[in-house]
Amino acid sequence: MGMKADFKLIDDNGLRIDGRLPNQLRPLRMEVGVVQRANGSAFVEWGGNKIIAAVYGPREAYPKHIQDPNRAVIRARYNMAAFSVDERKRPGPDRRSVELSKVISEALTSVVFVERFPRTSIDVYIEVLQADAGTRVAGITAASLALADAGIPMRDIIVGCAAGKVDGVVVLDLNKEEDNYGEADVPMAILPRTGEIALLQMDGNMTYEELTNAMDMAIDAAKEIHELQVKALKEKYRGDEHDY
Ligand code: UDP
Repeated sequence: MGMKADFKLIDDNGLRIDGRLPNQLRPLRMEVGVVQRANGSAFVEWGGNKIIAAVYGPREAYPKHIQDPNRAVIRARYNMAAFSVDERKRPGPDRRSVELSKVISEALTSVVFVERFPRTSIDVYIEVLQADAGTRVAGITAASLALADAGIPMRDIIVGCAAGKVDGVVVLDLNKEEDNYGEADVPMAILPRTGEIALLQMDGNMTYEELTNAMDMAIDAAKEIHELQVKALKEKYRGDEHDY
């Protein structure tokens, strides 16, 4: 974010470098139940991002001192594979992944009925296999799908989606070049049923009006992304009586 590009990010027809309209998502594909040993799992391919999420639990929280007698503790761990980015990513946690794990844990906690599972932990592993900007929102989308696959009761299946600003235009779902050379990126997690926001971050600068436009764009897109989550669940549980 913030670097100046020596090429146009929006062309004379108003199209973006990958040919998308400002309010268009990158291609998205989702699959549920991809990790056999997990209680729930999901794979999300979103533009150039490839992400697996796996859920274990609710199970007795360990070490014991993290147990909460009133509710489950959701521990999300966001991790980027060494081979997921252009330059090798040094394995192990870093400042960025610790921050993302924290904000993703908090976003997921806001939708899960955690009070139903006292003293337990719900462990959510998010593994980024290939990164192309927007991994935290794709990671949240995969994680909530994996939670649904694990049968964990939630108020809604949360959706991650980013919007931002490139070449002065408010756009949805920034790709890597737009993330690098654009003016702002606003990752969000949204409850599609109500439009509630469970995560809102911002990198770069926008006016208040641009920010509300970006948020509206992401909230609209959340409904579209949610339909794909439901479709992925139905593909696995076809015939089952579920009300997602
Ligand atoms: N990235 C990278 N190396 C890193 C961290 C990020 O190459 O150590 C790339 C990666 O493609 C990522 C993008 O930069 O998706 C944008 O990163 P950001 O921190 O904005 O998070 P994201 O948009 O993935 O949620």
